[in-house]
Order: sequence, then structure tokens, then C-alpha cells
Amino acid sequence: MNNIILLDRNKPNYKGNLHLHTTWSDGRLPAADVVRAFKEKGYHFISLSDHDIYTRTEAFNTSDFITIPGTERGELNPVPAKNPGYHFGVLDDPTVEPEQPRYEHLHAFPTPVPWVGDHSPQLLIDELRSHGNLVVFNHPEWHLTRFEDMVKYDGFFAVEIYNHATEWSTASSYGAAYWDHALQNGKRVYGIAADDSHSHDPNWKIPEYGGGWVQVQADSLTHSDVIRSLKQGQFYSSSGPEVYDLRVENGRLKIECSPCKFIMFKAFPQRGPFFGNFMSGEPLTQAMMEIEEDMTYIRVECVDFEGNVAWTNPIFVEDLL
Ligand SMILES: [Zn+2]
Ligand SMILES: [Zn+2]
Repeated sequence: MNNIILLDRNKPNYKGNLHLHTTWSDGRLPAADVVRAFKEKGYHFISLSDHDIYTRTEAFNTSDFITIPGTERGELNPVPAKNPGYHFGVLDDPTVEPEQPRYEHLHAFPTPVPWVGDHSPQLLIDELRSHGNLVVFNHPEWHLTRFEDMVKYDGFFAVEIYNHATEWSTASSYGAAYWDHALQNGKRVYGIAADDSHSHDPNWKIPEYGGGWVQVQADSLTHSDVIRSLKQGQFYSSSGPEVYDLRVENGRLKIECSPCKFIMFKAFPQRGPFFGNFMSGEPLTQAMMEIEEDMTYIRVECVDFEGNVAWTNPIFVEDLL
């Protein structure tokens, strides 16, 4: 079995929020204020993913903070004149040569997207990709998306597995079961935690932003390096804990993280082990498991004492053999 390093404790990593809203759609603050709010929270990058309007905000970029062009495309529902239906996160991918021109800053998309049959979400995903974008299947739990949609549709590179706004408001933010459904059916997709924040008010006692993010390991803080790492799964998602290192060494998967209450290896089809110091309550900062050759994928969840989670991306066992 090959040794591989998925997250390297010695490499730079950058904190980002790939889903939020400003006054360009239904958010409360203009883009400049949202950028300032995230910089003050120590983020390195964000995407101003307003509803059905594409943003290119390189003007905000500095040496230690960048914005990733993108949008959130929605207004697609099998029931006419009803919204929300499907929502897709859209991120400009500068590492591909698109078949169609890239969307320009403040390009406004026609809404609603007509429902022309069950293949409508696929048509939308294909259209977004043809213009040089990565696509994320946003907040499936909140939309009560059908599980089979995770298998039926192709071309999304990630599932939004934690959406802070819907946890903050309606406690329906965890999409990891959808993610597992896709993975168990052979899809190679990653998990993304994000804010989907609209207000960005630093005075609120129950914060509506800064609650879900990705931590990306990249060579440098540039649009293309961040996107390249996202596409390769060189990141983890979190609502609290940190993952310092994740690697396969001598047939074992090893993780190091900030102090946590539980570390769970989610393997398929044989469920992996889970760890916790149940007697002493002492925090865990590392764990490992033996990889079995007939497992298809393994991902890890680290849960801290407040119940916040860090989710690693899956390793695919066939890649190790
Ligand atoms: Zn949405
Ligand atoms: Zn949103």
C-alpha cells in the first residue's frame, strides 16, 4: 500500500468561506464591508457568492487576502414559481480553458431557470461548467434534496456538508449523509463547510458568520493555487476543530488535530473505528486506523467538546493499492 500525505503539517494553509451574500443580492452589507468583516476574523479568502449575479472582485485582493469569483445559482424548482429549489455554488476555475466565455463581474443570470424535466439540474450544472466554473451542491439537507439526486446528477465537485446559516437559524445544516450517499455510490466528491451568511453583524451574540469554513493547503494564496487544491481535495472543512496532518503510512491512516472529544473514521463498507477517552474525558489530538484493502473510502470527523466538527476529505483506498 502506498504512503501518501493528504494534509501536511509543514505546508501553508489558508482559511476561506466559499458561500456568503452581500447587497448585490439579499445580504445586508455591501461587499467592501463583508470583505473587512472576514479579514478581521482572520480569513485569507472568500467568495462573494451572491444569488444569480456573478462577482469578480479582484479589486479587494491584497497580498494576504483574496476573493474567488463566483455566484450561487438557484431559482430552479420543479414546481413553477416556487423558490428555493436547487442551489449550486459556483466558483471560477482558472485552471481550465472553458468552452464558453467566462462570466463577467455583475453578470446577472435570468431567473427562474425553467424546469424542463428531471435533467434540468444537470443542464444547469453543465452550463455553469462550460463557462469555466466548479460547481458545489449547496445545502442539500435544508432543501430536503432527494438522496438519489446525489447519484443521478454529475459534474459537481463537492457537496456543502455544513451550512452555518441554516444551522444557526433552523438547525438543518448537516449534509454529510448526502455526501456519504454520493461516495457510497462511487462518486469522488468532496465536502465543504461554509457560512451562507447574510448579515455579518459582529455584535450579535449568536454569530451568523464565521461558523463554517474550509482550510486549504496550497502553495500560495492565489486564485489558481486555491482552486487547484480544492479540486485535488487538499483541504478540510470545519465548524471549530483544526486538522494539522493527515497521512497514510505503512497501511495506516493517521490524523493529528486540535484537542477533541471524539475522532471517528468513517470507512465504507466496513465502518471504521471511533475514539474517545470516555473514562477520563481527556482530549484526543491524534488517532490512527488500519486500512483494509476492501474498503472503498475513508474520511475522518473530529468533534470538539462544544460539538463542532472538522471533516477531512475522503481517501480512496483503490488509489493506495
Ligand atoms: Zn442557497
Ligand atoms: Zn446562499
